[in-house]
Amino acid sequence: MAAYEYETHDYDVVVVGAGGAGLRATLGMAEQGLRTACVTKVFPTRSHTVAAQGGIAASLANMGPDNWQWHMYDTVKGSDWLGDTDAMEYLAREAPKAVYELEHYGVPFSRTEAGKIYQRPFGGHTTEFGEGPPVQRTCAAADRTGHAILHTLYGQSLKNNAEFYIEYFAIDLVMSEDGQCQGVVCWKLDDGTMHVFNSKMVVLATGGYGRAYFSATSAHTCTGDGGGMVARAGLGLQDMEFVQFHPTGIYGSGCLITEGARGEGGYLTNAEGERFMERYAPQYKDLAPRDYVSRSMTMEIREGRGVGGEGDHIHLNLSHLPAEALAERLPGISESAKIFAGVDVTKEPIPVLPTVHYNMGGIPTNYWGEVINPTADDPNAIVPGLMAVGEAGCASVHGANRLGSNSLIDLVVFGRAAAIRAGKVVDADAPNPVLNTASVDKAFERFDKLRYADGDVATADLRLEMQKTMQADAAVFRTSKTMAEGVEKMDAIAAKQSDLKVSDRSLVWNSDLMETLELTNLMPNALATIYGAEARKESRGAHAHEDHTERDDENWRVHTVAHLDGNAVKLSYRPVGLDPLTTEDDGGISLKKIAPKVRTF
Ligand SMILES: Cc1cc2nc3c(=O)[nH]c(=O)nc-3n(C[C@H](O)[C@H](O)[C@H](O)COP(=O)(O)OP(=O)(O)OC[C@H]3O[C@@H](n4cnc5c(N)ncnc54)[C@H](O)[C@@H]3O)c2cc1C
Repeated sequence: MAAYEYETHDYDVVVVGAGGAGLRATLGMAEQGLRTACVTKVFPTRSHTVAAQGGIAASLANMGPDNWQWHMYDTVKGSDWLGDTDAMEYLAREAPKAVYELEHYGVPFSRTEAGKIYQRPFGGHTTEFGEGPPVQRTCAAADRTGHAILHTLYGQSLKNNAEFYIEYFAIDLVMSEDGQCQGVVCWKLDDGTMHVFNSKMVVLATGGYGRAYFSATSAHTCTGDGGGMVARAGLGLQDMEFVQFHPTGIYGSGCLITEGARGEGGYLTNAEGERFMERYAPQYKDLAPRDYVSRSMTMEIREGRGVGGEGDHIHLNLSHLPAEALAERLPGISESAKIFAGVDVTKEPIPVLPTVHYNMGGIPTNYWGEVINPTADDPNAIVPGLMAVGEAGCASVHGANRLGSNSLIDLVVFGRAAAIRAGKVVDADAPNPVLNTASVDKAFERFDKLRYADGDVATADLRLEMQKTMQADAAVFRTSKTMAEGVEKMDAIAAKQSDLKVSDRSLVWNSDLMETLELTNLMPNALATIYGAEARKESRGAHAHEDHTERDDENWRVHTVAHLDGNAVKLSYRPVGLDPLTTEDDGGISLKKIAPKVRTF
C-alpha cells in the first residue's frame, strides 16, 4: 500500500455535512463555544437542502387555529405508527421555537398581509386530530425555502467562528477498540492531501441515499456516505425499507415539483381528465400523504388510465390558478416545468410520476441525536462520541412515511437538539481521545485498494445496475417475488465491488475515485433496504406489500436494524418507542388519541 501522510486536526466537535442539519448543529455547537469543525464534500450552500422548495412545518397558527398536539398527531399517523413517540413529541413541540429562531437568524420567510410568516397547506397536515379540514402549517420562503435556510445558517455559523473544511471527503470513522468514535478520516479533493479530524464528538449529517435508485429527486451527491461509514464500523442501519416516492417528479427528468403546488390548489388528473384522488382519499383528496397519493397514481397507470402516448404518467394541473399567484408563490417550479417538461404552467398540465424522494430510514438515534447500537440487554444503548442528524439519521420521527415539510423541521429541531446535548456531554477542557491508529490505517487501506482497483467493472456501470435493480424491485408496489429477486440480484451486484476498475490513480480532483467511494457507500444502504423490505411481511407507510396488504401491529410494529458484515446483511428488530415525553396531565397528548387505527384519508 502507498504510504499516506496525514495532518491531524483537533476539535471538540466535528460535523460531517453542511446541509440544513449539519449547519444547524454546527451553529449550535459554535454558539456554545465548542471548538467546531464542519467538513463537507460540496460547498455548504450546494448541499441538497438548497433544493427544498415547499417549506418547513411548525404549528405557528398564523393562518388559523393550530397547535403542536395536532402536528404531533399528524406525524404519528403519517408515520403509520412506526415513529418513536418521544421523538415525534419533541419535533412537534420544539418546531415553533426552531422556526422563530430561523426567523431571528435572518431567514427571509414569505409574509402574510399582517407581516407574519406565511404558511401553506401540505399533505397529511390537518386540524382536530385528523377530524378537521387541512391546516396551513408549512412556513415558506416562496418555493425556495431550503435555499433561504441554508444561506442564513451558513452565514450565522461563520459569524460564530465555526471552521469549515470545504471539499473534504470523509472516508471512514475512527473508532476505538471499545467502540467509541474518535474522529473521521478525510481526503481533501482539490489537492489530494489527507486529514484526520480528532474530536470528542462526531456528528454525521451526510443526507440521504436517493441515488441508490435510478430516478430520484435528490442531488447526485446524495450517496448515503454516513450510512456507509456506520455500516463499515459495524453499527446498524434502521428502517431502511421505507423509501418515500414523491408523487410529482417531472416525467423523464425526475426533477421535483413541490407538494406546495397541490397545497396552493393544484390537482392531479388521469387520462379521462378525472380528479381521481377524490375516489381514493375522499376527505383530503390531493393533499393526502405522499405514500397514499403515489400508490393511487400507480394504480391509475396500472389500470390503463395513465396519460401520454404510453399511458405511463399523470397530469398535475395548475393552469386554473391565477397567474400572479403562480408567479408569487411558485416561481421556481414554474421555471422547472418550462425547462424540464417544456410546459407553460399557466396553460398546460405538468407530466408527473412518483419518484424516489426521501429515506425514512437511516442511522438510529434517540431524540438528542445520539447514535444507538442496540445490544442484547439494551435496545437503546448509545455509541459514545457519535451523533447523526438530518436525513442520514433515524430518530425516528417519520417512521414508515414522512409528511411533506417535516424534514426541514427535523433538520433544525434535531440539529439544535444535538448541539444542546453536546453542550452537556462534551467537556471542552478534557483532552481529546488518543487516536486508534489501527482504525486510521484501516481507512487508508480501503482507500488505497479502491484507488488501485484494477478489475473489469467500471464504477458507472455497476452503479447503473444497482440503480435499475432497486428501481424495479424495491418500488412503490412490492411483491414477495420482486423482492426475493431483488435480494438475489443485489447480492450479485454487491459482490462485483471486488472487481471494480478505477482508471485514474491520482489524488487531485479524482472524480473517478470519489464516485467509487460513493458507490461503496450506496451499496450497504441499498442492501439494507432490499433485505429489510423482503423480510417485512406487512404493508405500512411507504412499504406496500402486495402479498401482505394489511398493517400488522402485533408482529411488525418494530424497527428493523440491519448490520452488514462485508456484503452480508443480518437483520434484527428493536421496539418502537411508545411513551410520549409528557402525559395528558402535563398538557401532553392523550395516548388514546395516538393509539393505532386504520389509516384512511
Ligand atoms: C428536491 C427536494 C425538495 C425537497 N423539499 C422539501 C421541502 O420543501 N420540505 C421538507 O421538509 N423537505 C424537503 N425535502 C427533503 C429535505 O430537503 C432533505 O431531507 C434535507 O434537505 C436533507 O438535509 P441534510 O442536512 O440531512 O442533508 P443534505 O442537505 O443532503 O446535505 C448533506 C451534506 O453532507 C455532506 N456530505 C455527504 N457525504 C459526505 C462525505 N463523505 N464527506 C463530507 N461531506 C459529506 C454534503 O457535502 C452536504 O453538505 C426535499 C428534498 C429534495 C431532494
